[in-house]
Amino acid sequence: MKEKKIYVNTFGCQQNEADSETLLAIAESKGYKETDRAEDADLILFNTCAVREHAELKALSTTGALKHLKAKNPNLKIGLCGCMVQQEHRAEDIRTKYPYVDFVFGTNKISSFGDILDRVEHSKKRLFLVESYEKNPGKICEGLPVKRKYPYRAYVSVMYGCNNFCTYCVVPYVRGRERSREKESVLEEVRGLVQNGCKEITLLGQNVNSYGKDLAAPVSFSRLLEEICKIPGDFVVKFMTSHPKDATEELFDTIWKNPKCERHFHLPLQAGSNEILKKMNRKYSFEEYYALVQSLRRRMPEIAITTDIIVGFPGESEEDFQRTLNAMEKCRFDGIFSFNYSPRKGTPAAKLPDRIPDEVLKDRMARLLRLQESIQTEKNREMVGRTLRALCEGESKTDPRYLSARSDSGRLIHFPKPEAAPSAGDYVAVKITEARSIMLFGEVVL
Ligand code: SAH
Ligand code: SF4
Repeated sequence: MKEKKIYVNTFGCQQNEADSETLLAIAESKGYKETDRAEDADLILFNTCAVREHAELKALSTTGALKHLKAKNPNLKIGLCGCMVQQEHRAEDIRTKYPYVDFVFGTNKISSFGDILDRVEHSKKRLFLVESYEKNPGKICEGLPVKRKYPYRAYVSVMYGCNNFCTYCVVPYVRGRERSREKESVLEEVRGLVQNGCKEITLLGQNVNSYGKDLAAPVSFSRLLEEICKIPGDFVVKFMTSHPKDATEELFDTIWKNPKCERHFHLPLQAGSNEILKKMNRKYSFEEYYALVQSLRRRMPEIAITTDIIVGFPGESEEDFQRTLNAMEKCRFDGIFSFNYSPRKGTPAAKLPDRIPDEVLKDRMARLLRLQESIQTEKNREMVGRTLRALCEGESKTDPRYLSARSDSGRLIHFPKPEAAPSAGDYVAVKITEARSIMLFGEVVL
């Protein structure tokens, strides 16, 4: 029998990447083998994102490009899943405008992918399995297989969904309410990974700081971290994302006391103006946020703090934007992810007046990036001369004479390949010799 091949393209965040690892493993259990060439595949699956319009347009145009593959191979099956198609209006777009898409399923149907594959293979009818979270709250299924992309690095979802309803964000609608996994299941998964030599474990959740509040026997995220850190072995635990309103001193203490916790905290600020934060429904002021940054740095001066910023939320005045710049100068972030505000259908912010014109958006974004580049270059220069422990990621993507590694605080470092070159997944000590805005250069020390 001819071997069946599956091609999976993942858009968006780490949660989607983690979901794709499960989808791939389920497909393998049904006799599929992964291919990285869409044109060789018998089945193509796009795991889509909805967080910004740009991500949706990318998924839609890439889907459009599949039309000619289907024309060449009518037996090809094409499917879409993930956050974009969890939205009723997008599922409808696919139904009416993309007739060559054979099946669509929402984020609360991932565990049924095996059955979906059976149905798709044995039916000529198109299959649309999109059900709102009100109808199907998306129960947690333990024990699903996972096809890990790297042996030394793994994602572990600890919770799903979000209860925060920030006014700009589509996530609570496409991922449902917060559901935490049982602590013991998470611990078992991490133990297994560490025993198999995994060195870097990233705990995933939209709002990991509220992990465990919904369990029958509630557990805090700090407690979960503490227990993970007790697992014997040489590994680092990362986690994302943290909401400032739930970031506690207890959590900071746990990180500080446990060297296995990565010296990096991603704490999305979104905006520096209290008025905009209020309109975003973020539930903290800049002053409260800044107190958290100080509290983290007081305990761990070496910690890297990164953030997310949205530019051009409806009604953002020049003064509001200036407050974001001031916030960046005060917090001196080690890295930022900045996004132009993107109206999302069905969210309260999409109905707000006073959209920011494109040229103003562009100008603000350019100013924000310029400021961050100067802060980051300055901060990175402070690293020159220091020796950092880092996990080797293999050859540099731009120059094969170099290797790349990530420090325990998440900093990207390039260094010339030494004679006895470390492999991907080995820890190395690197002395920093040069700093640029987004990366460091160094040499391996023995
Ligand atoms: N749960 C996480 C991640 C949410 S999505 C958190 O709360 O941080 C990741 C980032 O995308 C957000 O932090 C926000 O900065 C950005 N984002 C979400 N919705 C957006 C929108 N409609 N327009 C622009 N950026 C958005
Ligand atoms: Fe979206 Fe806010 Fe939830 Fe993050 S916390 S996923 S930004 S609603």
